[in-house]
Amino acid sequence: MRWSRAFIPTLREDPAEAEAISHRLMVRAGLVRQLAAGIYVYLPMGQRVIDKINRILREEIDAIGGQEMTMPVLHPAEIWQTSGRWHDIKEEMFRLKDRNQRDMCLGMTHEEVIAWLASREIRSYRELPQIWYQIQTKERDEARPRSGVLRTREFWMKDSYTLDVDEAGLGKAYDLHKEAYARIFGRCGLTFYVVESDPGMMGGAGAHEFMAPSPAGEDEIARCPACGYAANIELARSVPAPTPAAAGPREEVATPGVRTIAELAGFLGVEPAQTIKTLLSVAPDGPVLVLVRGDQQLHEKKLARLLKAEVRPAHPDEVRETLGAPVGSVGPMGARVPILADEALRDGVYVAGANREGYHLRGVRPGTDFTVTTFADLHVAQAGEGCPQCGKPIVVERVIEVGNIFKLGTKYSVPLKAVYLDEHGRERPIVMGSYGIGPARIAAAAIEQHHDADGIIWPWAIAPLQVHILPVNVKDAAMLETAEALGRDLQAAGLETLLDDRDERPGVKFKDADLLGLPIRVTVGALLAREGKVEVRTRRERQDIPVPAAAVVERVRELAERLAR
Ligand SMILES: [Zn+2]
Repeated sequence: MRWSRAFIPTLREDPAEAEAISHRLMVRAGLVRQLAAGIYVYLPMGQRVIDKINRILREEIDAIGGQEMTMPVLHPAEIWQTSGRWHDIKEEMFRLKDRNQRDMCLGMTHEEVIAWLASREIRSYRELPQIWYQIQTKERDEARPRSGVLRTREFWMKDSYTLDVDEAGLGKAYDLHKEAYARIFGRCGLTFYVVESDPGMMGGAGAHEFMAPSPAGEDEIARCPACGYAANIELARSVPAPTPAAAGPREEVATPGVRTIAELAGFLGVEPAQTIKTLLSVAPDGPVLVLVRGDQQLHEKKLARLLKAEVRPAHPDEVRETLGAPVGSVGPMGARVPILADEALRDGVYVAGANREGYHLRGVRPGTDFTVTTFADLHVAQAGEGCPQCGKPIVVERVIEVGNIFKLGTKYSVPLKAVYLDEHGRERPIVMGSYGIGPARIAAAAIEQHHDADGIIWPWAIAPLQVHILPVNVKDAAMLETAEALGRDLQAAGLETLLDDRDERPGVKFKDADLLGLPIRVTVGALLAREGKVEVRTRRERQDIPVPAAAVVERVRELAERLAR
């Protein structure tokens, strides 16, 4: 490919709205342009990256028995009404009506279509298992599209679905995907973790996420370097340090002006871990009192999962109405609402609000002095706390979710009547799994993990092109001819080349080469006339090695072999 005829609109400056490094570099290197919030145009270099990722996806999913198909983006409402998700999913779903006023929606995922298809086409256990997949456009009306292509409203997804006769079959299909996903992310050059995750809107019996560590990530995981435990922070467990022992009888103490845990601990000369943080939350069935230790934070998703409902913090007037005291003085003693307490409060003696303005109680024992409806894991796992498996300190890291896998079970096959006849002629629901990967997220995560101050450093397997040939001065006939000859030879050797034949200053061309980040660069410069040599470097090492022009193909091949490993 010749740069002079290619469409690679690089930019000197960072786009104003871009925060994530991958966003800045994808725009500056001419990979994408934003049409509207969360909606992107993929330019030729960006498209080449996506194509390479998709090729890897197809190879690995085909290798475990996947069969590619294409399902529509436009869906009739009925299948979503039958599964219940027409109602359960809120503003995230793009809905519309056709000319006959029939409800339609744009597909955000395809479990319903798969179950619909299976309900019509699968008859017998002999036709199972099946693995069906597609690489197709999804539409989600994200509340806050941001970080470039990491969170968009329209995106590609490789989504596969497995159909099995029973849970054991699903377990096998699930493990096959888990292994295939690990190979996919490895081949794409990503560092990643496999973590336990919350099935969320997919429902079902189990789920894992593949997480690429990056400061640009929107998710957090807790993991244990000692034993490998890893989970999304939304359900990561941890063992906080034990509550420091406290002596003394139960007594009410005046705490004038004290509102926060820090103020309370300071005023009474106790540790925050010796206090109870009392929060009033409102669930659909009414208010509940939620208790966490003073040094801990409530994770609202854990609370919502426990209550199987969305929960909101009570307003200050609701707090006063329910407990008879302002927010800073409330506690569990005498409260006439269900009490949910974090597990860290099972033992110990604490200071808690007295439900009387300006007073707290010392010597409070949860479960003894007041009834706890449920003890549960409700706190946010924090770095340094104990691993739930081995007790060693955990770490908390920011990550990009690049893939997810779900054991759906019969959540979709039962309502959509996707059933088969077993060997005894009995009707049984098909057991399903669902598995997603966003190729654009892989590209962005790869840039987040592989870049420097000057630009992208593409992993070999997903680079838009492989070798950047850079004649320093195209007005020098010998330089240009040598560069062109090298381009032909490298292509003949099976390598993808970009020949920067633009009549630009060398500085501009070097900057663009670093920005675009092709793995190998061949510079044809002054050394050619002096010694008959050109310079070969990798983007990562940036160390020019003089090579006789005749030996370039061999040298590049060696480097390519090393980079491809
Ligand atoms: Zn551990």
